Amino acid sequence: MRLVILGGGESGVGTAILGKKKGYEVFVSDFGKIKGNYKEVLIINGIAWEEEKHTEDLILNADVVMKSPGIPDKSPIVKKLIEKGIPIVSEIEFAAPFTDSTIIGITGSNGKTTTTMLTHHLLKSAGLNVGLGGNIGKSFAWQIADNKYDSYVLELSSFQLDGIVNFKPHIAIITNISPDHLDRYDYKYENYIDAKFRITMNQTEDDYLIYDSDDEAINEWFKTHTTKAKLIPFSLTKIFSEGAYIKNNKMEIKINQEEFTMDTEHIALEGKHNMKNAMAATSVAKLMQIRKATIRESLSNFQGVEHRLEKVLKIQNVQYINDSKATNVNATFFALDSMNTPTVWIVGGVDKGNDYNELMSLVREKVKAIICLGVDNKKIIDAFGNVVDMMIEVTNMNDAVKMAQRLSEKGDTVLLSPACASFDLFENYEDRGIQFKQAVKSL
Ligand code: ADP
Repeated sequence: MRLVILGGGESGVGTAILGKKKGYEVFVSDFGKIKGNYKEVLIINGIAWEEEKHTEDLILNADVVMKSPGIPDKSPIVKKLIEKGIPIVSEIEFAAPFTDSTIIGITGSNGKTTTTMLTHHLLKSAGLNVGLGGNIGKSFAWQIADNKYDSYVLELSSFQLDGIVNFKPHIAIITNISPDHLDRYDYKYENYIDAKFRITMNQTEDDYLIYDSDDEAINEWFKTHTTKAKLIPFSLTKIFSEGAYIKNNKMEIKINQEEFTMDTEHIALEGKHNMKNAMAATSVAKLMQIRKATIRESLSNFQGVEHRLEKVLKIQNVQYINDSKATNVNATFFALDSMNTPTVWIVGGVDKGNDYNELMSLVREKVKAIICLGVDNKKIIDAFGNVVDMMIEVTNMNDAVKMAQRLSEKGDTVLLSPACASFDLFENYEDRGIQFKQAVKSL
């Protein structure tokens, strides 16, 4: 069997290692450059590879192709493979049949990483032999080739779910759905929603789907579709006989005739969106039969994830918060919503079709000044120019932070929550967040 892998990054090389171990004839082809450390791994393992080209003769003879999630279906080599009817799968589809481990799959537009890390923390702290993978950390396929975890918590993007055929997680989470990546879905929101719901398409009556029952797109989908999985909804506004909700400042979870309760003030993560993430992760912990005391302890000591509403420093009683990972309006909505002091808001970058109206009432209520940090700030200025008293444009992070310091007073918060992608002025959101933290630290 010939396995051709398109893309020589973490998931590509991981799949190559697993494929080789399972007896496939493996070939890795990358149209860009393959990183040095990955090349070394391929060479040491005797795996054939090429870079900066796709040699058709070596690719179109595949029995199966693993395509890395970053490569769009529209790319010429993928089109040719589709024309020839060669099956194209994602890493998780290829790898899952080689393990009996319990798989917990987490998808959604926002909150995937936070929920994945928290779920992993809850299970690991309870002593389970659990791996972490998907979009984060080490490739899932690689871990299956190397290790023997009893369970895996996987962060799954819609692109990874596009490439599944039989893959099914025992427990699935859809954190929420809002428009994102529509360029990869023919600009049709329905297509993107359907991609997210692929996480449940192979689930059976023995499996579980945990989902945000306050989410409009999710509720709409359920009106015209079904799943066999047992449903576990979570909500900030409703109450369930089976599910997770908030009542009288307590998080309550009712699953399989068991109940778990915890004061929300003891949960280390802050903000309404994080209560949703905590409800989702805790539902998994309950399904995995983790003891209540252990769950409580883990929820109270989980320190959050870098670049997600990350508290950086308090300087002259002004709190600086790094939410650089907020690359869409929905993420920024929850960031602004969780502010409880007057806020100087640093926003801007590359907009993926934002509708700033969704933020209007929060901005009116909480934001005293806006600092636009982008090459083209027109939409932001048009939307909020008349809403806040102060609005300033800057073109680098140092100026943004210095200006924020000047505009803030004791008791305020300075929030970087850009609602946009970062690549006009930064390498990526991590670079943007790190520059923010450095600028704050050198104030
Ligand atoms: P993802 O991996 O899906 O991008 P992250 O956990 O990295 O999600 O969070 C991305 C951004 O979304 C951050 O700005 C974070 O504060 C915000 N966020 C986290 N959880 C949620 C949620 N449940 N709903 C909306 N926004 C969220």
